[in-house]
Amino acid sequence: MIEVTNQPPPLENYNLFSSDTVLKQALERENAGWAAADVRLLGERLGSAEMIAAGADANRHVPVLKTYDRYGHRSDEVEFHASWHTLLELALKSGLHTAPWVDPRPGAHVARAAGCYMLAQIESGVYCPVSMTYASVATLKHAPAIAEEWLPRIYSRVYDRSFRPVARKASALIGMAMTENQGGSDLRSNVTHAEFYRGIGERRFYKLTGHKWFMSAPMCDAFLVLAQTSAGPTCFLVPRWTPEGEPNAIHIRRLKDKLGNRSNASSEVEFDGAHGELIGEEGRGIPTIIEMGNYTRLDCAIGSSGLMRQGLAQAIHHARHRRAFQKFLVDQPLMANVLSDLAIESEAATVLTMRLARAYDESDEVSLAFRRVVTPAAKFWICKRASMFAAEAMEVLGGNGYVEEFNLARIYREAPVNSIWEGSGNIMCLDVLRALARSRMAMEMIIAEVQEPAKEDSRLGAFVSKLQESAARLDESQARVFTRNLVLALQAALLIQHAPHQISDTFCATRLSGDVEGVFGLLPPNTDTRAIIARAAPSSD
Ligand SMILES: Cc1cc2nc3c(=O)[nH]c(=O)nc-3n(C[C@H](O)[C@H](O)[C@H](O)COP(=O)(O)OP(=O)(O)OC[C@H]3O[C@@H](n4cnc5c(N)ncnc54)[C@H](O)[C@@H]3O)c2cc1C
Repeated sequence: MIEVTNQPPPLENYNLFSSDTVLKQALERENAGWAAADVRLLGERLGSAEMIAAGADANRHVPVLKTYDRYGHRSDEVEFHASWHTLLELALKSGLHTAPWVDPRPGAHVARAAGCYMLAQIESGVYCPVSMTYASVATLKHAPAIAEEWLPRIYSRVYDRSFRPVARKASALIGMAMTENQGGSDLRSNVTHAEFYRGIGERRFYKLTGHKWFMSAPMCDAFLVLAQTSAGPTCFLVPRWTPEGEPNAIHIRRLKDKLGNRSNASSEVEFDGAHGELIGEEGRGIPTIIEMGNYTRLDCAIGSSGLMRQGLAQAIHHARHRRAFQKFLVDQPLMANVLSDLAIESEAATVLTMRLARAYDESDEVSLAFRRVVTPAAKFWICKRASMFAAEAMEVLGGNGYVEEFNLARIYREAPVNSIWEGSGNIMCLDVLRALARSRMAMEMIIAEVQEPAKEDSRLGAFVSKLQESAARLDESQARVFTRNLVLALQAALLIQHAPHQISDTFCATRLSGDVEGVFGLLPPNTDTRAIIARAAPSSD
């Protein structure tokens, strides 16, 4: 019998919120301290061994497309593992899909962000329909008749997995379908078209014909879909069932076989004269649907920050329990360097994400400009860093990290998708340039945000001056460099204000001094790694 020694206990049955100092502080600081009790409850539930196992199971038993029923009738249904439903039920019960819309008190989007940040640590697939439903409200609110019919069900916290007309359901989930085979970023190249067929009062109904190359969570009850009319790309709400109670002509051709996000179904669909209702004006579909996109992009930053946090928690936990060369790994100076560097990156991601979420709680001009610039910027940089981060965190576990029974392998496969969907990296950076070009105030507002902390640290002061200079001559080919620098300036400013000195000082020393390396563990000698790791450790350790 082989005796098992020197293997860490599993990191489970711990509270994802109580054990996360950075998150706790950010929740309080960004106006959502009132939500701490609920977030703590959710943190406990998500950190339970049961939910952690559900996250793994939902990804091991991937969804299956049932194109026809056993009699040969077209059915276009997707079957999910029970654990998918368990996790989605918990997410809805916790209001992660719509709570800030139902109760829009200050800090509501921040409180939700904290919940989603924890959900992403345990299972990112269910986060997809949760995020799309949350984001859809921003668009649907501008279509009064649709809002009246759909929002009460969208707001419901009772998860109803049944596949039937929404009028007979307790709740509704919303997806979106923009990307077509010939082009996703370039939405004007969409060829799916819509023909008007009926009007009732102010409501306008169309038949949609064409396809979508990606349509995730196809068991949602309705989708925001872009299709061409004679006026150009137009936004429609396309339900799974027609008003007459028949399955709508949305045919799921197949499910994608994906690198990660495997618990979630991402489908290719064909619209064969599918019923859809006009949202907004004909030809104004892109701005209408992009309103939803801002919220899903925020969620990408939240999700990637959550993945980093989970990677970090697992890495520190492992290093605190595993011995090599007569010492715990965490006490090996080079490993301490790696872990501290990861901790700094994770904290920088979390503070910026939570600050950005606050901008969604505020509706003044400055906050709107902040959102407009910082959402694509944060999505670009945080989601990009998450992939490198996941690879490094995985390596801390040595060979175990590469094995599917540990969640680091899943996090590693999961990480790139937040960078690709909802607008890939380049598109995000070009969007930052566009937002700055449109609003003179936007750059001033970013500078105002970092000005005071820049007085406290001359490295940030010099970095901001350069950022200002480069903003005056924005060049498309340099959009990634500019966006990275903008994010680094914001992260440095936030850390100087809100993190212990050793964190902000090391961040400024390593991130503002030149090119940020793709490898972690390059912190200078004499870094107070012990203090940095102690702050980041899941505190149940
Ligand atoms: C798992 C998954 C689920 C998805 N679910 C959905 C969904 O539910 N609904 C939906 O509508 N879509 C969905 N998508 C699609 C996703 O949003 C698109 O794949 C993404 O927006 C990129 O579009 P594309 O694949 O057509 O690539 P392209 O538009 O062809 O872009 C390819 C590359 O070129 C870059 N690029 C494009 N234009 C420029 C430019 N002007 N300058 C420099 N670089 C440029 C892009 O950044 C990208 O890196 C999903 C994708 C994935 C992977």
